[in-house]
Amino acid sequence: MVDSQDMVKKVFTQKSARIDTNKGENYYNNLFEKAKQRLSTLKKQAPLKDIDMVDVIETEGINRRDFMKWVSGTTATLMLPPMFEPLVAEATELMNRVPVVWIELQDCAGNSEALLRSASPTVDDLLFDVLSLEFHETLQAAAGHDADRQLEDAVEHFKGQYLLFVEGAIPMANNGMYGTIGASGETFHEHLMRMSKDAAAVIAVGTCATFGGIPAAAPNPTGAVGVMDLVKGKPLINIPACPANPANMVGVILHYILTGQVPELDSLLRPKFAFGYRIHDNCERRAHFDAGEFVEEFGDDGAKNNWCLYKVGCKGPMTFNNCSIIRYNEGTNWPVGVGRGCIGCSEPDFWDKYAYQRPMAGANIKAPTGGVEKTVDEFGLGLLTATAVGIGVHAVASAVAGKKSEHNEEE
Ligand code: SF4
Ligand code: SF4
Repeated sequence: MVDSQDMVKKVFTQKSARIDTNKGENYYNNLFEKAKQRLSTLKKQAPLKDIDMVDVIETEGINRRDFMKWVSGTTATLMLPPMFEPLVAEATELMNRVPVVWIELQDCAGNSEALLRSASPTVDDLLFDVLSLEFHETLQAAAGHDADRQLEDAVEHFKGQYLLFVEGAIPMANNGMYGTIGASGETFHEHLMRMSKDAAAVIAVGTCATFGGIPAAAPNPTGAVGVMDLVKGKPLINIPACPANPANMVGVILHYILTGQVPELDSLLRPKFAFGYRIHDNCERRAHFDAGEFVEEFGDDGAKNNWCLYKVGCKGPMTFNNCSIIRYNEGTNWPVGVGRGCIGCSEPDFWDKYAYQRPMAGANIKAPTGGVEKTVDEFGLGLLTATAVGIGVHAVASAVAGKKSEHNEEE
């Protein structure tokens, strides 16, 4: 609990946004020109799969307007200005130029499942019909030796070109024998190292592949670790969450098609376009947090009025992810939207550190009068201070918070 309090304090004293959403006209103009050139080079290459996006759209009965609506949402997810929309549309149509190999290790296949539930207009069609998915053992028809051969052929044929998606953790205990693959009994570790060797970039999808996830939860009997602990000297992108949001997976592929590079990453190798903000920064219940209106117990009046879930364990203030903006299941809803706080699934060690803790549950916090606070992050810090010393903040919450904030700024 002490660790958690310290950690929460640290989070409240750091800048909430870690991405610069407006990098200036020159930056975007240069990027635009670069992307245009990249797309025209890709266009000259022969498609790896003879399926045309336009045909897929027509066959699925998706009209151009709906497609452009999706393009516009995806451009915004990538934090690019609207001038990039035509290029994002073009990049989507060129998905069949980039080979993708997807391997599954110690996992539940939840990320593949999430991708199949991808947003309208049936991005799963856009991806799986148009994307040159050279290998995905859960989704493909081939099995056994045929599947083995398909994978070996793909890796050999597209040496240095393919994007390797990795789903699942890697068990390292007992010489890796908790996870083997194929008739040869190759361990997951050996398999990952062999598959990543000739990849253009490795994309770890879901929290198991990025930080070990649930398999790595204490006492971690299989010695599970994430891809970043093993794969070195390669462009590596982490897309954590349990499951990773399909919009972010699609976003990373489109970014690669557009620029030929990995997107800007944070210190945990997560794309900043998706993990540059805290859940808390864009949460629909944020006004209640700022007003000090909290659900005290599930099912109480606060819950019925959609008040803030912080005191019943929401980890939104310390979790970097874009769920509060793009949501899940075709944008229908997300955990906080249905009354269950964020459990921090896109952060390292979330299961041990975040999932069960309710550090604010015992706090005697009352809303300061006057509605929404002007200095919202400082008010959050004030709440933590009050919890630590076990006092109610009542109407003086803002003043306490303000002083604490000044103190931290001086430090
Ligand atoms: S519900 Fe969670 S993310 Fe939303 S405002 Fe409250 S603490 Fe922040
Ligand atoms: S709201 Fe939190 S726990 Fe839920 S998916 Fe997003 S980051 Fe994970």
